[in-house]
Amino acid sequence: MTGRPFNMENKFDVIVIGAGASGLAAAIEAARAGASVLVLEKNHVPGRKLLSTGSGKCNFSNLEIKPSAYHPPRPAFLKKVFSSLPPAEVLSFFKELGLLWTEREKGRLFPRSLKAQDIANLLLNQLELLKVRIQTLTEARSVSMENGSFLVEAEKTAPKWDKSASPAQKAIFRAGRLILAAGGAAYPQIGGGSGGYRILRELGHAVAEISPAVVPLRIKGNFVKEMEGVRLDAVLTLRTENSFLAKTAGELLFTSYGISGPAVLDLSRAALSALAEGPAFIEADFFPDYKTPELERLLAERAASFSGRPFRHFTCGLLNGKVIRAAAARAGIDWDAPALPGCAPGLAAALKSFTLEAAGSLGFEDAMVTAGGCALSEVNPQDFASRKIKGLYVTGELLDLDGDSGGYNLHLAWTSGILAGRSAGRKQPA
Ligand SMILES: Cc1cc2nc3c(=O)[nH]c(=O)nc-3n(C[C@H](O)[C@H](O)[C@H](O)COP(=O)(O)OP(=O)(O)OC[C@H]3O[C@@H](n4cnc5c(N)ncnc54)[C@H](O)[C@@H]3O)c2cc1C
Repeated sequence: MTGRPFNMENKFDVIVIGAGASGLAAAIEAARAGASVLVLEKNHVPGRKLLSTGSGKCNFSNLEIKPSAYHPPRPAFLKKVFSSLPPAEVLSFFKELGLLWTEREKGRLFPRSLKAQDIANLLLNQLELLKVRIQTLTEARSVSMENGSFLVEAEKTAPKWDKSASPAQKAIFRAGRLILAAGGAAYPQIGGGSGGYRILRELGHAVAEISPAVVPLRIKGNFVKEMEGVRLDAVLTLRTENSFLAKTAGELLFTSYGISGPAVLDLSRAALSALAEGPAFIEADFFPDYKTPELERLLAERAASFSGRPFRHFTCGLLNGKVIRAAAARAGIDWDAPALPGCAPGLAAALKSFTLEAAGSLGFEDAMVTAGGCALSEVNPQDFASRKIKGLYVTGELLDLDGDSGGYNLHLAWTSGILAGRSAGRKQPA
C-alpha cells in the first residue's frame, strides 16, 4: 500500500467501521466486554448524523417497539432480535449512561433536554472512559481476510477546510472481529454513502437494492409552489385509481417541490411502491374533525352571514389562506365574487379531499433512511453476526430493514450495535 503510515498501533481485538448510532453503541459494549477497540470514522466528528436526528432533538426510541413498524415485514427475525435484547434493556443502556428522557406523541422518546448532542456526548464520554480510540477523518476503503484476521485498508484525509494539510495517508488496521456499522446512503451531506454496501458485496454478502425511504415527496403540477411554506395538520389517504392503500395523520408541510412533514414521511414508502406500479394519489383532508355534511353546513351558514361580501372575506379565519385559495380554485369559486351559500358543497369537497398526485421522492439527499441492504437471511438475529464470514458483524441501516419514523430506526441501530458489540467483544477461544 502506498502513502505514509499512520503513527499508531494498528492491531486490535475489534474494529468498528462507522462512529454512528450503531457503531458507538457497539464500541461501548465491545470495550466493556474487555476487548481493545478501534473505531474508524470518515467524518471529522463522530456521531455527526445523530446530531441531525429528530430535527436536532433525537427521537432515539419509542415506547412501543413492534415488528410491524419495520419493512420489509420480517416478524420472525425481529421477534428473535427483541427477545435477545428487549426494548426496555436499550432504555436501561441509556439510563446507565446518564440519560433522562421524555415521551412525546405516539410513544416517541426524546432526551429530556431535547438535544441530540446530549445523546452523542453520553456515548462519547463513555467511550473516553473505556479508552476506546476513535480515528476520525479516516475512511475504511476495503476489507480483506488474512489467517482469520480482518485487514482494513483505510485512508486518513484532511478536513475540507484545511487547504495546507498534507496528502491523504493510508494504513492497514488488523483485528480478529469487524463490526460493519457504516450506515446507509441517506443524507450524504452528513456521512451517508454506499461504501458500506460495497464492502459487504466485496465480502460476499447479498445486498438487496437500496432506495430512499421516509422521504419527502415530489408532487405533479405547479400549484404546490403557491402553497410553499404552509404547515398544517391533515389526514392523508394514499390511493391508486382503484384502491385505498394507507392513511396517516399529522403535520403536512408544502414546499417548493412538493410535500413533507411527519404525515408524508410516514406514507412515503407505500406511496413510492404504489408509484412504481402506476399513478398514486394522496388525498388531504384539511377538516378531519368535521364530517362532510357538517362542514357543508358550517360553510353555508357562514356564507349566509357574510352575504354580499367577497369570498376572500368569508374564508379569512377559516384555515390557512393559501390552502383555502387553492381549494376554492379547485371548486371553481371566484375569489373576488360575493360569497354564496351555494359554494358550500364544492368547497367542502375540495377541503375534505384535496387530491395531490405523487411524482416521486426527493432521493437520498433528503431521505431519513435507506431501504434495502444486507440480506437478513445471512445475519444471526441474536448478535448480528454474519452467517457467511466468521468474526464479521453487520449493524444498523446497512441491514435490509428500515423502520417507520418515530424512533424505530435509531432503536434498531442501538439494538444491533449493543448485541454485536457484546458478542464481538467477548474473549475468543485461542
Ligand atoms: C436528518 C435525519 C434525521 C433522522 N432522525 C431520526 C430520528 O429522530 N429517529 C430515528 O429513529 N431515526 C432517525 N433517522 C435515521 C437514523 O439516524 C439512522 O437510521 C441511524 O443513524 C442509523 O444508524 P447507523 O449506525 O446504521 O448509521 P449512521 O448513524 O449513519 O452511522 C454511520 C457512520 O459511519 C460512517 N462511515 C460510513 N462509511 C464509512 C467508512 N467507509 N469508513 C469510516 N466511516 C464510515 C458515517 O460517516 C457515519 O458516521 C434520521 C436520519 C436523518 C438523515
